[in-house]
Amino acid sequence: MYAYRIQSVTTLAALSDLFSGDLQTEERWLLLGVEWHSREPRLRVGKASLAQSQLVTADVVPNVARASARVCCGWYDVSKPDLHVTCDAWRPARTGQCEQCARREGFRSVHLATELSKDISHHVQRYLSQPHLLYIATFPGGTTKVGTVAAERVPARLDEQGPVAAAYVAEASDGFVVRRAEAELASALSLPKVVRTARKIAGLRESVKPNASRKILAELLDNSAALLQRTVEAAGAVHINPPRPWSVPASTAAAFDETPVQLATGQFSGRVAGLAGSLVISRPVAGKPARCIDVGALRGRPLLDRPEEVDVRQTLF
Ligand SMILES: [Zn+2]
Repeated sequence: MYAYRIQSVTTLAALSDLFSGDLQTEERWLLLGVEWHSREPRLRVGKASLAQSQLVTADVVPNVARASARVCCGWYDVSKPDLHVTCDAWRPARTGQCEQCARREGFRSVHLATELSKDISHHVQRYLSQPHLLYIATFPGGTTKVGTVAAERVPARLDEQGPVAAAYVAEASDGFVVRRAEAELASALSLPKVVRTARKIAGLRESVKPNASRKILAELLDNSAALLQRTVEAAGAVHINPPRPWSVPASTAAAFDETPVQLATGQFSGRVAGLAGSLVISRPVAGKPARCIDVGALRGRPLLDRPEEVDVRQTLF
């Protein structure tokens, strides 16, 4: 019955309509995450009675039952693009992923891997054996990082991180070469390989114009071109000159138009103005500051059809 009904649902608002009436007493939908497909943000939702999860358009702010324990959000089989696998037991998982699903996904061992080993699962080995790219990305507020992406995940990997500006600076034959180049470049340019969500939110709270952040990246690429080339070539990668720019998706540009934002407190309804990675920006009342909600932090909890009554002093973060 559910499988039939869900086929016509394409937005989160439409999904919420299903919560009314008799279905409210039925099994609830769970928020499993934010993904970017064809340059558009989508929310992944699922429920235990369905073998497959679903993607819906993030048209309204997702609200979840925050008091509920988090369950496992499943895993991605990276041997096939965009294949999400639901948890076989929907186990409780404080981090959003149970041990079994983390093991099946097999990505924990990859972050430290610089060469093939038997510890890396076959589907991850296949993923790593394809061409990769090295990029530099600048986020709101000016924080800049280096990162890597498999060629088949361009541009989704950067879309899901929400930078203001980014450029691909090197190509590598596989995931191991690109990781060596990433480590060398991070050291040579004193750049981090990770920008925490809290730092991204802090950037959105500042009145920094996107142009200022774009200028930071452009100057870094100009000033470091020779060092960048030496570093990536010494690691066995091919320098991309001039750097190949990543373009900001429309939804993310709309999110940046709403800055500066305030952190959302309590829970509230509103239409989505835009997303920067997994950060939803909403302006429920004209003339009031826009709000920022980290949807990634809400993963693994049941979706609500309307905001939950909570203490307004309680922060979402
Ligand atoms: Zn699991």
